[in-house]
This record gives sequence, C-alpha cells and structure tokens, in this order.
Amino acid sequence: MSKEGISVMKGRERPKILIADDTEGSRQLKKIFETEYQVVEVAEGQDIFEPVTEHKFEIALIDIKFPRAREFVMRLKSDDHFAEIPVLALVSDVDSGIHSITNGASDFIMRPYNETIARHRARAVIDKFAVERFLAHSDIDRDPFDNQYHVEIDRLTGLYNREAFCKRAAALMQANLDQKYFIIYFDISCFKAINDLFHIETGNSILRTAANYFERQIDPSVGIVGRMEADHFVVCIPQDRINVGQILDGLDGAIQALDISHNILFYAGVYPVNNVDLPVDQMCDRANMALKKVKGNYMNRYAYYDDGMRELMLQDQMIVRDMEAALRENQFRIFLQPVYNVKTDSVESAEALIRWFHPINGMVSPGKFIPVFERNGFIVKTDRFVWEEVCKFIKQQREETGQVIPVSVNVSRLNFYNLDLLEFLLGLLEKYDLESWMLKLEITESAYTDNPHQLMSIIKAFREEGFPVLMDDFGSGYSSLNMLKNLPVDVLKVDMAFVRELEESERAYMILKFIMMLARELGMDVIVEGVETKKQLDYLVSLGADKIQGYYFSRPLPVPDFKKLVAEKQNTSTSD
Ligand code: C2E
Ligand code: CA
Ligand code: CA
Repeated sequence: MSKEGISVMKGRERPKILIADDTEGSRQLKKIFETEYQVVEVAEGQDIFEPVTEHKFEIALIDIKFPRAREFVMRLKSDDHFAEIPVLALVSDVDSGIHSITNGASDFIMRPYNETIARHRARAVIDKFAVERFLAHSDIDRDPFDNQYHVEIDRLTGLYNREAFCKRAAALMQANLDQKYFIIYFDISCFKAINDLFHIETGNSILRTAANYFERQIDPSVGIVGRMEADHFVVCIPQDRINVGQILDGLDGAIQALDISHNILFYAGVYPVNNVDLPVDQMCDRANMALKKVKGNYMNRYAYYDDGMRELMLQDQMIVRDMEAALRENQFRIFLQPVYNVKTDSVESAEALIRWFHPINGMVSPGKFIPVFERNGFIVKTDRFVWEEVCKFIKQQREETGQVIPVSVNVSRLNFYNLDLLEFLLGLLEKYDLESWMLKLEITESAYTDNPHQLMSIIKAFREEGFPVLMDDFGSGYSSLNMLKNLPVDVLKVDMAFVRELEESERAYMILKFIMMLARELGMDVIVEGVETKKQLDYLVSLGADKIQGYYFSRPLPVPDFKKLVAEKQNTSTSD
C-alpha cells in the first residue's frame, strides 16, 4: 500500500484550472494560479465546453458574461458526462456575483483581482466541493431511519442481520439435534483500508458480491447465512455439508472478478458446536476468537476454536467472578491522560481511563476487562463510577487551584439503554456543583452505526444540556463519514491507527488531511490520539491539528501525578 502511495505522490501532476476571462483578466489570473495549477485558458469567443471534455479540472474560473457561461454552469450540475466542477464566477460588481451564485456558481471574485482573495476563495470552494461530493456519493441514500426493512434483513446485502441470524440458527440447530453444526465466522483482511482507499461503493460491492456467493453456496434448506456487521459474515451449517477452504477460495475468486486493485482475502474461524444450548452470539464469539488467530496469515486462512482459546475465556470468567467485589472494594481507579493544545502549549483537557488493581493479578488493563463488561452489562456500573470519580476530581482541582480542567469520560454504548442516563449525569453535576461543559462525553464511533436514530436523540439531549460530545475512535468504524452529516458532535477524536500509518502511508496522510478539512467544514474540533513521536507530531501540526493526546506528551497518569504535571506546566508557562 505504501509503495503505491509513494508513486502516487511522485507522479502527481499539478491539478488543472480552467480560466475563461477577457485577455487582461486571464493574464492576471494566470499569474496568480500558475504556480499551483496547470492553467487552461479559454480565449474570448471560444467554446468553454470543449476543454471540459478533454481535461479534468479541479475548478473553473468563468466570466459569467462569456457566451454560454450560464449554460455551462447548469450543465455541470445536471449532466453526468461532465465531471462536477466547482465554478468561481468572475464579476465586476457584487450584484452580478450574487446573481451568479443563484445560477449555480459556488462563489465569485471581483475585478480587479486580489491575489490573496482569489487564492483563498478558490481553495475554499474546492474544499467545500470535495466534502459535499464525498457526502453526496456516500451511502446516505439508504435511509438509516427507515426501520421497516431493518428488522430481519441487512439492507446492504439482503442477508439476515445479527439478531435474525442468531434466532434462526438457534431454531435450526434445536430442530436438528441429530446433526453436528459449525458456526463459521468470516472476515475480510483490511476491509477498512479498502473503504478508505476506494470509493465507498467499492466496499459495498465487495460485501454484496460476498453475500451473493454465500447465498449460492449455502443451501437454505440446510444452513443459513447472516451478516453481523461491517465485513463480518457468519454461517451456520451441518459439519458434513461444507468445506471451509473451498468456500474461502471461492470467495476470493468472486471478489477477484470485481477487478479491484487491492489484495482482498477472506479469513474464517470455525466453532464446532458441541452445546446447542449456548446462546448463538456466544458461539459466534468463539468462532470469531478462532478467526483472530489466523487473520493476516496468508498460509493458513481458517482455524477451529480450541481449548487454548479457553484460557482467554477463563480469564474472562475470572473477570466476571471478581468484578462486583472490585467495585465494592475500590479496586478501580481513574487515570488521567492530558490533551495538549500545541498552540497554547497547555493542558487543555484530559481523558479519564479506568484501571483495575486486582489484589492477585495486579493491574489489569481495560483492554482485557472492558469488552467483558460490555458483554455482561457491568460497564454501566463502572462507567458511572468513573464519571463520579471524575466529578470529584474536577471539584477538588477547582478548590485547590481555582481552575477547572474539563475531563472527558468514555460512555459505553450500553448506557444508552438506560432511560435515566441524562438524569444521572445532571445529578452528578448538582452533587459536585459543576457545570456541564466540564464533563465531556466520548462515544465510540461504532456506537453510531448500531442505532443511529436512538443515538441521535440522545446526543441532542446531551448537547442541549451543554455537555460537549466527542466521537471517539473516529475513522475506525464502518460508515463514519455518512453518520457525521446526521449526527452533530463537537469533537472528532481521530483513531490511533491513522497516526501509526502516517509516516509510511501517503494515503493515511491524505485521509487525515481530509478529516481535518471535513471537521472544519462541519464546525467540529479535532483531537488526535496516540501521538508517540516528535515526527508524528510535526506531521500533524503541518495538517493543522493542534489538540494532541498521546504518549509523546504523557501517558495516562494517576490523579496526583496528573495534578503535579498540570501545576508544573503552569509554572513553566508563567515563568517564561
Ligand atoms: P480509548 O477510549 O480509545 O482510549 C485511548 C487508549 O489509548 C487508552 O488505552 C490510552 O492509554 C491509549 N493511548 C493513549 N495515548 C497513546 C499512545 O500514544 N500510544 C498508544 N499505544 N496508546 C495510547 P487504555 O487506557 O488501555 O484504554 C483502552 C480502551 O478501554 C479505551 O480506548 C476505551 O475504549 C476503554 N476504556 C478505558 N476506560 C474506560 C472507561 O472508563 N469506560 C469505558 N466505557 N471504556 C473505557
Ligand atoms: Ca476514549
Ligand atoms: Ca479512542
């Protein structure tokens, strides 16, 4: 991927700009834009349509008095054969400028041309257009709020969705107790990358093709297929009716026929069902556990669930066994990780991250226990514990220093099922005499795809009460950009994966640049997480990122250490 990225970068031509103006205007504009663009001029009286069929323009600067100029602008909007091009109208007075906008121009500039204004407007129009085009071409036409079709069928592929699959698979196995079944979990390698690199429709066509293949291969009278989420498919079928290796090869073949210039491979994890009474989603978890062992392994593309994986389960069981006591006995603590503002060189907020100090196992990382808590619902209790600890901290900090550092907390999606969520948060504010801006709420991106309708109203309610809402892990999920349009949040927290790839991949760089632009366009702030090196920081700063969270500045710290850090930081900045 990075190889390709570099060649793209080297070979990149300057973008093209179309200029249609009188001789003097054309001369001025050429001077302004020729360092950045390849200029294609249309002389007075010449046809402005012709160049558009020959070249791909990033923007067109057109004197609206040009013959057929208006027709040109209209055609750009309505004619599919013409690539969409933003038009900047060239005018001599404001009224004509406004008139040109009504007629389809994106903006205008006035004679005599001012270099700074001309450049700025052109850039703004191009950026805005790129964002709009992206949003327009993404998946929004599938209305996520139309629930009718949602109940059993995954609308993209026509397969059963998670709930329907689990229900039907359970029924199937119960009805055929003499049969031995497999639950097989399928996943595509680097599907996220494909969504990032190509048009969203490419990702969708891969999913549809895969679904199609499954439908042809899995005889519905003996087995069933479902799509769990994103690029995860699952099959329930008698063990003697399937050859997993063959299915994987067949899937690869079907996808290759799409002729996408990226290596796309399927992986599978197989759970041989030995206890039909186990809930099907747990069977799927086991199959998925097996899958994780082979994902990314070219030689071995599927694996069976085995006892080694039971270790993990046992660990999970330990977690479940001890969690209540842990909460009672104060084994959970919050750590705070600063979010730095590079511009003001100050700690502008912090994120609270939970830690478990287990009496026997020592510090257990949230990566181990949070997923377990999310599965069994205990997360609701621990989250509330964390929020309260955070409120205590903010209050104490204010009493000790006279200053408030807003802290963001993670709000696991399970909380949304509790009707008193908002009430609970407001109750905390009252109890600790705080205001809502002090407590920021982080909601992970993937929660947005679960149930957009419900989440939308919750977020709205949060924001109406003044709680800033952050979209966590932005870019890690499946349909983030689509969601953004419908779900106004205050801050995007860019997923760490981008930062990790930043140095090697020109594309990661481009995507980040795009995200920054999109955020600006939608009036959102951006925090970049996971910044570990100076080099990464420099890259990010060059992209205009200024709010940074990561080991480079500081790891998550115990509360007293965090306080000390803030105090030191303030001392150095006041003594400067
Ligand atoms: P998250 O919300 O994305 O939190 C950021 C994670 O990235 C934290 O891991 C943080 O320690 C780590 N991190 C920060 N900077 C860097 C860096 O420069 N490099 C690397 N490699 N990592 C960095 P942590 O504390 O282990 O938490 C993991 C996840 O557990 C969190 O991811 C969050 O999803 C969950 N979590 C933690 N605390 C809570 C909580 O109180 N409630 C809920 N619901 N989830 C929590
Ligand atoms: Ca977070
Ligand atoms: Ca995150």
